[in-house]
Amino acid sequence: MADTSIEWTDATWNPVAGCSVMSAGCTNCYAMRMAARLEAMGLEKYRGLTRKTGGRAKWTGQIYLDEASLNVPETWSKPRNVFVNSMSDLFHPNVPGSFVEKVWASMARTPRHTFQILTKRPDRMVDILNGNLPVLPNVWLGTSVEDDRVLGRLDDLRNVRAAVRFVSFEPLIGSVTRGNLKNIHWAIVGGESGPNARPLNSHWVDEIFGMCEDAGAAFFFKQWGGKNKKAAGRIYRERTWDEMPALSM
Ligand code: SF4
Repeated sequence: MADTSIEWTDATWNPVAGCSVMSAGCTNCYAMRMAARLEAMGLEKYRGLTRKTGGRAKWTGQIYLDEASLNVPETWSKPRNVFVNSMSDLFHPNVPGSFVEKVWASMARTPRHTFQILTKRPDRMVDILNGNLPVLPNVWLGTSVEDDRVLGRLDDLRNVRAAVRFVSFEPLIGSVTRGNLKNIHWAIVGGESGPNARPLNSHWVDEIFGMCEDAGAAFFFKQWGGKNKKAAGRIYRERTWDEMPALSM
């Protein structure tokens, strides 16, 4: 586990490492760059997960299943919000269903923690979970949506049985006005950051704010992003928005 500066969680836990680019939201994937750095530092877990193309690190599609990390949540005595697989996607096609079952067992053994799982493959999440694995009250399931080309992910998310369903609109790179948040409990919104950051239009944020109001979903504004994300800050409508889902929903 690692403590993290990600505003909506306390820590990250990576039982899986490695991924493949899935859609436009992946173009400047932080995990892809970080995996290359960690490999260069000699970490075995990240060996072969990326290769250099045109001076940039790209995923190879190879996945590392970190069996040794499965018992780690039991070693944390203090309850935490835990972002699962910040360096991968638990529902990548190369992650076997049997390994997802092991991750589930680990989360079931540690009900003091709240686990937040975010995927760009909610269709596979539905296939693996529904009817096969129990709904755990301490596990929140979410999908990432960057623009209206991938709004279908919201429909897949609505089909998954979960204590909390959430969506991360980060990096938000286009309008999502044709979407809705019915039966989704929480929305995180954020602009892209880093040297190649694509701009965030405040109207797109307004659209999601309105969708949250309509659906009764909690609204979390993470950041405006940009080349200097600290300077751009996270003030929206003259305040910060750190709402979390109401667990009775
Ligand atoms: S799905 Fe997530 S981890 Fe995988 S390439 Fe896209 S942004 Fe990166």
